[in-house]
Amino acid sequence: MSKQNILVINSGSSSIKFAVINPQNEHEYVSGLAERLSQPEARIIWKQDGEKTIYDMPNADHDIVCQKILHLLEEQQLTETLAAIGHRVVHGGEHFKASTLINDDVVQAIEDCKGLAPLHNPAHLLGIRITQKYFPNLPQAAVFDTSFHQTMPPQAYLYAIPHSLYRDHHVRRYGFHGTSYRFVTGEACQRLNIPVNESNILCAHLGNGCSAAAIYHGQSVDTTMGLTPLEGLVMGTRCGNIDANIFNFLHQQLGYDIDRITTLLNKESGLLGLSELSNDCRTLEEAMEQGHEQATLAIDVFSYVLAKSLSGLASSLDHIDALIFTGGIGENSRVIRAKVLQQLRIFGFQLDADANANNGKNNKGIITTADSPVALVINTNEELMIARDAAQLAGC
Ligand code: AMP
Repeated sequence: MSKQNILVINSGSSSIKFAVINPQNEHEYVSGLAERLSQPEARIIWKQDGEKTIYDMPNADHDIVCQKILHLLEEQQLTETLAAIGHRVVHGGEHFKASTLINDDVVQAIEDCKGLAPLHNPAHLLGIRITQKYFPNLPQAAVFDTSFHQTMPPQAYLYAIPHSLYRDHHVRRYGFHGTSYRFVTGEACQRLNIPVNESNILCAHLGNGCSAAAIYHGQSVDTTMGLTPLEGLVMGTRCGNIDANIFNFLHQQLGYDIDRITTLLNKESGLLGLSELSNDCRTLEEAMEQGHEQATLAIDVFSYVLAKSLSGLASSLDHIDALIFTGGIGENSRVIRAKVLQQLRIFGFQLDADANANNGKNNKGIITTADSPVALVINTNEELMIARDAAQLAGC
């Protein structure tokens, strides 16, 4: 086998997701997850040819599981097929307008963005340093969640706070999920036969984290997430947009300190906070069917805030060629897609209930009727996008 595969790595604080992908034919040879790292339950879940194998590795840290992954790849004769490694990096600040090959300056710049993503960037750097150690001869690329949104104009990315906070401390809206947006936009334009550089697209990436974006001629012109992924839509456990004075209220009236409030807004809010049941959309849909009032309320608020945000984002476009739903909820939740399109009726969206029921599978993902603006479901594939970028940067 020639060297054309890419090892895709998403290194988190207690997990590493990985995959070996051929970006040309899009074949995924293996994928997996090393989770609960540095804990007694640490393990690698290895997925290959439809089979799942679990390797328990008590207390193994990032380095030890990377050694094991390397060993398993060697056993499968996959190491010799690798042309490059692509790393997901959450925050590139204003340094990175596109994916880039990793060198010392890039490592330093990712380090410099640590303050913007204190949980994520250090974990990515750890992954980068370890793979550099075990694969010293392979080119490595960084693919940023933020870089796609670097095309936003100042009116979209500036907060109306003292300008010195932007000038001196880079406080601004950055946006996330950029790798997913790039992938699904390309896919939608191909399916609908629209040149990307002429397209006007609204996109909702709805997973555990949720955001939406306006994408004009293939470039992000506005998005809902901000300095951090807390801003914007209602999410699994994040509150999305709130009145910033809630901080003050919770402190003064209830005595909560900054850490308590930060946890409340990031981990205890969103679908979970509203429903007091679960952050998982499937659980909430099942509960709604059983008549659970707060689950219904959570889904209603989620859908309404999403529709309202999409209408606002539409003001950055000339017209709407397509509204894309992606991410675990966007790809699967018929209920939420139906509620959102109903709420967006001012744009003329007409749901095709049968198409929506099977996630648009029979017609390029399209879930609207022929005389409606197009809304479609596209399964995102961030790993493939990272593999494509890494391959292109490595010149293979
Ligand atoms: P992600 O982070 O993209 O994996 O998305 C996770 C979210 O997708 C969770 O809220 C899941 O409940 C939701 N999800 C996955 N499958 C379904 C489904 N069949 N129906 C509704 N929501 C789903």
